[in-house]
Amino acid sequence: MVMRIGRTLPPAAAPLRFRDIAAGVSVIFEGEAAVRRLEDELKSFYRVRYCFAVSSGKAALALILQALHQIHPEKDEVLIPAYTCYSVPAAIIKAGFKVRLCDMAPGTLDFDFNSIVEKLENPRLLCVIPTHLFGMPADVERLNRLVSPRDIFVLEDAAQAMGGGWNGKKIGTLGDVGLFSMGRGKAFSTVEGGIILTDNDMVGRELEKQLATIGREGAMDTLRLFLNAVALSILIHPRIYWLPKSLPFLRLGETHFNPSFPIRRLSPFQAGIAKNWEARINKLKAARSVNANNIASYGMMPAGAFGGTMPDLTRYPVLAADKDTKKAILRKSERMGLGISDGYPDSIDGIHELQGLLGGNTFPVAKDIAERIVTLPVHPYVGEVDVKNIMHVFQERSYVEA
Ligand SMILES: *Cc1c(COP(=O)(O)O)cnc(C)c1O
Repeated sequence: MVMRIGRTLPPAAAPLRFRDIAAGVSVIFEGEAAVRRLEDELKSFYRVRYCFAVSSGKAALALILQALHQIHPEKDEVLIPAYTCYSVPAAIIKAGFKVRLCDMAPGTLDFDFNSIVEKLENPRLLCVIPTHLFGMPADVERLNRLVSPRDIFVLEDAAQAMGGGWNGKKIGTLGDVGLFSMGRGKAFSTVEGGIILTDNDMVGRELEKQLATIGREGAMDTLRLFLNAVALSILIHPRIYWLPKSLPFLRLGETHFNPSFPIRRLSPFQAGIAKNWEARINKLKAARSVNANNIASYGMMPAGAFGGTMPDLTRYPVLAADKDTKKAILRKSERMGLGISDGYPDSIDGIHELQGLLGGNTFPVAKDIAERIVTLPVHPYVGEVDVKNIMHVFQERSYVEA
């Protein structure tokens, strides 16, 4: 690891302003009503009957799985992409279910639809989790068609895609139930947080029961979130980001498998931070879209792009030619503070804690993605000169697979 002092881009950022934090503080004493207001706004924007704001994306996942299990108590397996965020299997384990993996289609970040068919022939399969990784839309409609003759739920993991759209539809509403994360590094952030959306009455009512059993954040949690929000709003800035990045105990950018996490409601403070979310998300999207289109104009297409239009990416995923090339790119980016970053360190079957639970299959495409993927920053702190410098790193050698 290179120590760098000076302008350093974070890999992803949804800037938090003091104004947003002040909006959070101003509703603390309003309590639950502030959270309900956010949920109501989301319900009307997404045209769904049920919305629940909770403490994180993984908490949302665990709660949804528990709710689905109430509907199909005989089912306890969950099918996920073999390359995804480690929080997904962590939430499945936390909720008490079994992880099943499906490989990705080559050149995409989505399921291999040829091999998924036989995996759906499983009476114990509770749900499938299509995932819009880095904001790249997964083909949820194709999955819906495959799944529909069977009693299997489609749980749309839109953790990184809040505000995104696809084929004129809103991401988060494409499956039976969907979730967003509002953690840091996601499309929109309240420091931590998760949103559950569904228009399915049966699922919505079970979720209401689940939500009735969980606690809310206490005063100490709110204080911790407040301090994190202040720190985040300052440290995420490229002029300062080298500092937290150089502190090893913060472990920025590291990925760990951790199935022990709290499941609570979103705090009123966080709901307050989300004030004006619709306008702010639109601004974030506009800034990211300029950068993503700028990168594409150099001829570098994102991994997994299908269709002609550029989706709302939170990070711009690219496959390097091979493992060594990826390492060279990341080293160079570290030295120059360009914010190019690694994806998840391994495919899900490579997670040490899951060994023996997955049945020994291999997932070569997911493995290959893990070995070669890098993501380019497109957040609002990224400027034209940054993109130029980033593209320079790639153009030095033919780093990217054609
Ligand atoms: C971040 C993320 C999650 C978990 O969200 P948290 O808010 O961090 O718990 C789940 N799935 C995907 C794809 C993610 O990127």
